[in-house]
Amino acid sequence: MIIDGHVHMWLRPMYPDSIINAYLSPWLELGDLMDMSRDKEENFPFSEVHPESLVEYMERAGVDRSIMLPLDFGTVEEPKVGVEAYNDWVFKCGERYPDKLIPFMGIDPTRGEMALRLMRKYHSKYEPRGIKIYPPNGFYPYEERLRPFWDEVRDMGLIVISHAGASWGPLDEEKSRPIHLSPVLERYPDVNIIVAHLGGKYRADTYQLAPHFDNLYTDCSALQGWLPGEPGVVIERLREAFSYMGDRIIFGSDWPLFDMAYPYESWCCFVKEQPFCSEERRDRLLGGTMRRLLKI
Ligand SMILES: [Zn+2]
Repeated sequence: MIIDGHVHMWLRPMYPDSIINAYLSPWLELGDLMDMSRDKEENFPFSEVHPESLVEYMERAGVDRSIMLPLDFGTVEEPKVGVEAYNDWVFKCGERYPDKLIPFMGIDPTRGEMALRLMRKYHSKYEPRGIKIYPPNGFYPYEERLRPFWDEVRDMGLIVISHAGASWGPLDEEKSRPIHLSPVLERYPDVNIIVAHLGGKYRADTYQLAPHFDNLYTDCSALQGWLPGEPGVVIERLREAFSYMGDRIIFGSDWPLFDMAYPYESWCCFVKEQPFCSEERRDRLLGGTMRRLLKI
C-alpha cells in the first residue's frame, strides 16, 4: 500500500490574503502565469483544491491513500472561512472517499480552549489519527501555555505533523526549527511527531534529535522542488535522511503545491524507482512506516 503522508486541500476563502500572496508569488513569477494585479483570487491554478481532483491524481500515480492536512493560519490573519468550517469541510471530503483519504485536523495550538474544543469535537465524531501544526504562525512548541494542547494530543493518541523550513510573508520561519520540538519529544515519549520536509533548511536539527528520540519521524515532501533539474540532490538528501532516521521517514508530496513545477505522478515514480535504498526500506518509506503509525 502506498500512502502519501502530506497533501493539502482548500477552498480560496479558507486562507487569509497575506498567506495566499506570500505563498503564491514565487509560483506566479515562475512563468509569468497571470496578471497579479487583477483577480488573482480566481485565476491562479489550484485556487481551489477538491477531493475529486486529488483522487484522480492518486489513481494516475498509483497512490492508495493520502493524508489531508488542513492549515490553520487564522491566528495570523482571519480568513473569510474560519478554522472550524475548514476542518469540517476536510472531514466531509474524507467521508466521500473513506478508503482513499485520511483527514487529519489542522488547528493552531495557541487557540487555547478553542483548540481543545475543536479537537474534542472531531475526536468524538471522526476519531482522526493526527493533527497538523504550524509553529511559524508565532509559537514555540515547548511553550508552557501549550501544555493543555500537548496533554490532549497524548490522551487522544494523535500523530503530530509540524511544519519545518521555508516560511513566507508574515510567518516566523525560525520558530519552525525542529530543535524547538526537543522538550516536547522528551516530555511526551508516546506522542509521535513528524517533522515535515525533513526539516528543510533546518534538517540538521532533525538529524541531531534523531538518535535521542524514537518518537521523532520526518517526511520527504517538497524534495521534488529540486526536480527535474537536480535529481542528484534529491537522492543525496534521501540517503542522508536514511542514515540518520533509519525507517522513520514518511513518503509525502505536499500536493498540489509542486505539481506545476514537477508533476505529482513523476514524483511518485521517482521515489518508487530511483536507487537510493533497498526495496525493503522503500516499502516502509512508501507506506509501511505510516501504516504502523496509523495502526492500519
Ligand atoms: Zn505542506
